[in-house]
Amino acid sequence: MLYVGMKARFKTQCSECGGTIKVGQEITKSGEKWVHKKCAEDTGKGEVLP
Ligand SMILES: [Zn+2]
Repeated sequence: MLYVGMKARFKTQCSECGGTIKVGQEITKSGEKWVHKKCAEDTGKGEVLP
């Protein structure tokens, strides 16, 4: 599955695993929150490209 991903430009928290998202890590959006791309792939909660 292909997720909308980008590199984090700021430090934030992953709403899925609760871990820190560091600048430069691959992230994706889950609703209004940011999650690690890997977490989105694991849970299937990330935004998927049409
Ligand atoms: Zn995570």
